[in-house]
Amino acid sequence: MRSDDNDPHRALRDAVRALCADFPDAYFREVDQARAYPEQFVDALTRAGWMAALIPTEYGGSGLGLAEASVIMEEINRAGGNSGACHGQMYNMNTLLRHGSPAQKDHYLPKIATGEWRLQSMGVTEPTTGTDTTQIKTTAVKKGDRYVVNGQKVWISRIQHSDFMILLARTTPLAEVKKKSEGLSIFMVDLRQAEKAGMTVRPILNMVNHETNELFFENLEIPAENLIGEEGKGFKYILDGLNAERTLIAAECIGDGHWFIDRVTQYAKDRIVFGRPIGQNQGVQFPIAEAYIEVAAASLMRWKACELFDAHQACGAEANMAKYLAAKASWKAANACIQFHGGFGFACEYDVERKFRETRLYQVAPISTNLILSYVAEHVLGLPRSF
Ligand SMILES: Cc1cc2nc3c(=O)[nH]c(=O)nc-3n(C[C@H](O)[C@H](O)[C@H](O)COP(=O)(O)OP(=O)(O)OC[C@H]3O[C@@H](n4cnc5c(N)ncnc54)[C@H](O)[C@@H]3O)c2cc1C
Repeated sequence: MRSDDNDPHRALRDAVRALCADFPDAYFREVDQARAYPEQFVDALTRAGWMAALIPTEYGGSGLGLAEASVIMEEINRAGGNSGACHGQMYNMNTLLRHGSPAQKDHYLPKIATGEWRLQSMGVTEPTTGTDTTQIKTTAVKKGDRYVVNGQKVWISRIQHSDFMILLARTTPLAEVKKKSEGLSIFMVDLRQAEKAGMTVRPILNMVNHETNELFFENLEIPAENLIGEEGKGFKYILDGLNAERTLIAAECIGDGHWFIDRVTQYAKDRIVFGRPIGQNQGVQFPIAEAYIEVAAASLMRWKACELFDAHQACGAEANMAKYLAAKASWKAANACIQFHGGFGFACEYDVERKFRETRLYQVAPISTNLILSYVAEHVLGLPRSF
């Protein structure tokens, strides 16, 4: 693949690549087959400081921006890994950094920077409301110096490998707010304490090796000081985290796209059928070239989203469009890769089927393609609201 000599992130890419080189295909394949957590890999990332990339230097982090965080995530996926095991810390960090109080930052950030604590989980989705987030049923009711939480969440990832979760709950009933996005609040939840005091975790076995869970809250008490920002403004705060998440997932898809294209290009040069490399046929070349063009274009939208996010400007449209383009491009690359590997694309030892499953998720999560189209139609183009 063509290298970019003007890449401003060259040194960062090289450093992350060097770390990833210690975790070859076989490592991620074995972790996948064992349905295990890539503990050694995440430890190595933490020790090297990459999991604290966004934490300001005064709290012990590297003080980098979303653009650099996106390069870290991209390189992990480009090396054959899956950032899904650890990307939560990157997008959750922004919620805490932008809306947490000085006392909360002093309390959490230094320990997250050293790796003593992990902030890998965000609890938004609920089984009965799905993407219609403002309708969530989980409530947090203030009683003295505590909030009492009741309700249920679904698909909440990395609970078993995180110390904290940012939880979205309704603090004012829907009937009592002017706008449905008001009256929602976010909280820092200490997961190990919560498991002893009202939160039940039920793992969901799924298509990828992704640790995700159903959560049940029965009178879970959270100290009032764990409220992040102002009560009732949580939906606005969580959108910052969601825009960061969409941009980072776009970067992961770009990494996946490059991985698929690199693998299939090499395979198409080496595989001889009918007396010539399969890559000599334009029927093979064109889908690969098309995927490459789309990955490259998606990357430009990713940079635009990062630039706006890092400048604290509105980036909802760009974050959504980057995620849409990148997820589509990586899926196109995945299909070309599995197709032109023929039967070998299905053999676990080639890793294509694993990456194929992993990148498929991003058509649905963290936001489905349809909901992005709806956002652009209504919020960017001003078409009538459909819901
Ligand atoms: C592996 C995994 C990990 C996840 N991790 C987390 C996590 O850590 N935290 C968290 O909070 N959530 C998490 N999620 C949830 C994820 O964000 C949701 O699954 C996703 O947003 C889609 O919501 P839903 O599943 O409720 O689908 P629904 O909202 O039920 O929608 C189902 C489908 O219907 C279509 N659809 C729905 N409404 C419309 C409409 N108005 N117009 C057109 N089409 C529509 C879409 O195609 C959508 O895919 C995870 C999900 C998965 C699968």
